[in-house]
Amino acid sequence: MQIKADLHVHTTYSKDSLITPKDLVYYAKKRGLNAVAVTDHNQLEGAYKIAKETDFLIIPGMEVSSSDGHIVALNIHELIPRGFSAVETVERIHKAGGVAIACHPYVQFKGCLREKVCATFDAIEVINARAFPFKNSVKKAEETAERLKLSRVAGTDAHYGPQIGYGYTVIEAAEPSVEAIAKAIVEGHCQPFGQPVPFTLNLQQELQRVKRMAKKFIHT
Ligand SMILES: [Zn+2]
Ligand SMILES: [Zn+2]
Repeated sequence: MQIKADLHVHTTYSKDSLITPKDLVYYAKKRGLNAVAVTDHNQLEGAYKIAKETDFLIIPGMEVSSSDGHIVALNIHELIPRGFSAVETVERIHKAGGVAIACHPYVQFKGCLREKVCATFDAIEVINARAFPFKNSVKKAEETAERLKLSRVAGTDAHYGPQIGYGYTVIEAAEPSVEAIAKAIVEGHCQPFGQPVPFTLNLQQELQRVKRMAKKFIHT
């Protein structure tokens, strides 16, 4: 069966995201997704909490800050520590039974892996809907996927509800379960789709963030 999933979303469990668990499910459904991966920065707790509270298919994951750049780990049951090299981080993800994805490898102003993407990764995030410059980053990531024979996936890297679903992966999975999705990604039964998040949505996100900071400031 085909599953349409945004594989890179941050919730309020990441300090820099505005997406509440309620927003997450609301917008994922609204965008016609069947599943969504929760990939908060260096933590896993929120993903499991949210998965327990909803019937919507949540793929538990996290975005690990390796010393070489950011790495998305999906289908893991234990926290992957930050600060190790990309090679060691991928090894740790595999030991934990997870899928290692080189996310936004060629994006500027972010912890990107660039030449540190290697063949031990399971997949590469060819489309990151918030990547800048978008076209160039997709092209470079496509070339790397081709060279290293890696599966291709897409995600939004959403930090604001309405951004969810601009990047998504269509996965040919045996059944709608996290295990089946993880297996299909590793085996390459997946295809990336997406378009850049509109500038206005990124601007709205910044405005909301400033509002939230101002509110906190007034209340303290
Ligand atoms: Zn990142
Ligand atoms: Zn991210």
